[in-house]
Amino acid sequence: MTVPIAKLSFWGVRGSTPTVDPATWRYGGNTPCLELIAPDGTQFILDCGTGLRMLGSRWAAPNGGKAPETHIMVTHYHWDHIQGIPFFSPLYVQNNEFHFYSFRSKYLGRDSLKQVFEAQMALPYFPVDMSAMNAKRKFKEVDGGDSFTVGENKITARWLNHPQGCLGFRIETPAGTVAYATDNEPGDAKLDENLRELSAGADIFINDAQFTPEQLETTRKGWGHSSWLEGARVARQVEAKTLVLFHHDPDSTDRMVDTILRQAREEFDSVFAASEGMVITLGAPGDNVQAHMPGTRTALRREAQFRAKVCGVTEGGKDFEEATVVRDISLQGALISLKHLPRLQSELQVTMEAPGADGVQSMHLRGYVVRIDAGPEKGHVAVGVVFTD
Ligand SMILES: [Zn+2]
Ligand SMILES: [Zn+2]
Repeated sequence: MTVPIAKLSFWGVRGSTPTVDPATWRYGGNTPCLELIAPDGTQFILDCGTGLRMLGSRWAAPNGGKAPETHIMVTHYHWDHIQGIPFFSPLYVQNNEFHFYSFRSKYLGRDSLKQVFEAQMALPYFPVDMSAMNAKRKFKEVDGGDSFTVGENKITARWLNHPQGCLGFRIETPAGTVAYATDNEPGDAKLDENLRELSAGADIFINDAQFTPEQLETTRKGWGHSSWLEGARVARQVEAKTLVLFHHDPDSTDRMVDTILRQAREEFDSVFAASEGMVITLGAPGDNVQAHMPGTRTALRREAQFRAKVCGVTEGGKDFEEATVVRDISLQGALISLKHLPRLQSELQVTMEAPGADGVQSMHLRGYVVRIDAGPEKGHVAVGVVFTD
């Protein structure tokens, strides 16, 4: 018997507006879009931010070549959750079929999402009109409180506290449960209860973490977003297994998100900061949740031979120090072979010896762990780091 496995991919994690600032590249600048492939092959897409374009350009039929059938949940109609639609190339391919789910907005009335499509592609906002969108599109209205099944999976929608409304979705698959709660602010008793219902016992609880707890109490109160602290509190209350901090503020640099993640990890055991390209596998034997991060996004890699000392924190939270040789390096990162298993999204101090004019020089770099693979050497792991400042 094969074990049911689900794969959750993050294509866009930034809130409000896309960012291209180099100080935000590590976590990524595309707006919300997630993809969940359930064990039965059903493909779910959560939100249609600019990350959707990336997903479309790497489109692969999930059912082994059969015409793909995809179920797309749109949480609400703010720009950052719909902006990728006109740029999603699979919508222009005749044999594709898409099932869209969203709520009836009181500002738009019947067929709200259909109207959003038409408005987005109306002249002069977009050069191509709707008739070019050849894929089959079916629209289904969902309301907070609704529950339905797609294949072997159960989907539940609940209202969250956000201006003009926002739906949270809970998807229960045979491999585990994902709760997606973007764009929500704590403080409304009934809607706070909805959030707890959505995330109860979830394997992956994705929550809005746009603001710091201080901002949430002062300058950003009422803006419809949450903080890492709220996420950690709810995760603990409902006994969620892993918390994913999501919808990073466009003004948050990678360094700021690093700090947010560090603070959240002091409050809750298993936390990741959503990062573009991150993939979480649910239901894999031995380890219910596994996260993989993209490698360094550069082709400028060089083989090297630098003797190095590496200090960091293990997966189990212990400090370590280890001598190694760095054999693969680029301007942005390196692949380092280690006996210790460092924690994903943690920091390593890498001291390398480099030949200089006056003999061997030490070069100190800070590396952020983006991936861990089985190493070519026995008993070692290959650790991909991105150099931060
Ligand atoms: Zn948003
Ligand atoms: Zn919003």
